Amino acid sequence: MYNYPGNIHIHSHHSDGTGTIERIAAEASAAGLAFIIISDHDTLAGLPEEAIRHGVVVLVGAEINRRHSHYLALDLKSLVPSNEENPQQVIDRVNEAGGFGFIAHPFEKGSPYLEKGKAYPWKTWPVFRFSGLELWNYTSHWRGRHPSLFKTLYWFFFNRKGAMDSPPRELLELWDCYSGAGHRVSVIGSSDAHASLYNLGLIKVPVFTYRYIFSTITTYITLAEKISGDFKTAKRQILEALKIGRCYLSFDSFAAGRDFYYYAEQGSERFLMGSAMPYRGKISLHLQAPLDRSLLRLLKNGRVIEETPGRALVHRPDGPGVYRAEVYYRPRWGRPRPWIYSNPLYIGEP
Ligand SMILES: [Zn+2]
Ligand SMILES: [Zn+2]
Repeated sequence: MYNYPGNIHIHSHHSDGTGTIERIAAEASAAGLAFIIISDHDTLAGLPEEAIRHGVVVLVGAEINRRHSHYLALDLKSLVPSNEENPQQVIDRVNEAGGFGFIAHPFEKGSPYLEKGKAYPWKTWPVFRFSGLELWNYTSHWRGRHPSLFKTLYWFFFNRKGAMDSPPRELLELWDCYSGAGHRVSVIGSSDAHASLYNLGLIKVPVFTYRYIFSTITTYITLAEKISGDFKTAKRQILEALKIGRCYLSFDSFAAGRDFYYYAEQGSERFLMGSAMPYRGKISLHLQAPLDRSLLRLLKNGRVIEETPGRALVHRPDGPGVYRAEVYYRPRWGRPRPWIYSNPLYIGEP
């Protein structure tokens, strides 16, 4: 098994980001990433620039819809029109065009310090046939965390990790709810990088440069074989892994999540995240964290069934269900902090 770090949901100069794709790729390379996904607003203008650049696989999708209900569409050859009033149609059109997508920052909240409190949540529920949800979006998280101007500035200048308490609780619940109803919904983490200048009253502050944000929320894909050096093959490997949920997200500002593993074994067969398997014979779930200072949690159908400090956990499932894993980072002082979220293993699903 091989894990590859990537950064998803990046804006370039083709929409409201500030960097060229070439520069963004160089920054991603400096951050040690294996792949990045550029997703400019309602355009695929960057598509001809897809390639391996600076050793990084650069893929281009689009973020469809503007005023709200943003949809991160991947694997498209031509753009699908936006439709904010009926985002189900956007999802379906992306699928019909051979692509797939993730609902971007569905529960985004506004901040009084940015664009007068404007937010871009997903407004129409329920929707179906989307591949997944953006579970933790770095930029969007900051937008919604503003207990006071003082606290926000303190976090921004002195303790950025302090602001990152958890992915939205209601979003975790929604994900478990979809899974519980038999829908396969994958999750990813993202940066929503723009590298913009923000106007804080009298001063303009450059926030979250590409290089900085590429070390925050990372989505790792897990492959059974090494990633190819050939662009087209690598592209298929990455997109396939994201689509079926053979991936996990990690808040790498605590520590790199690269050495995380979650899989099931049944006889001599091994099942990676995102897989479905029958409930029969002896099944064991294996969870491994990157550091000893971890708290491991295993959840079945959204409920915690085992929790243990340390680095490894083996569990024998007692019945069919949707099993997913979380890892908390245990700092020297204070409470364990949400760190890594796996995609589920579907046991006993048809
Ligand atoms: Zn958006
Ligand atoms: Zn965006």
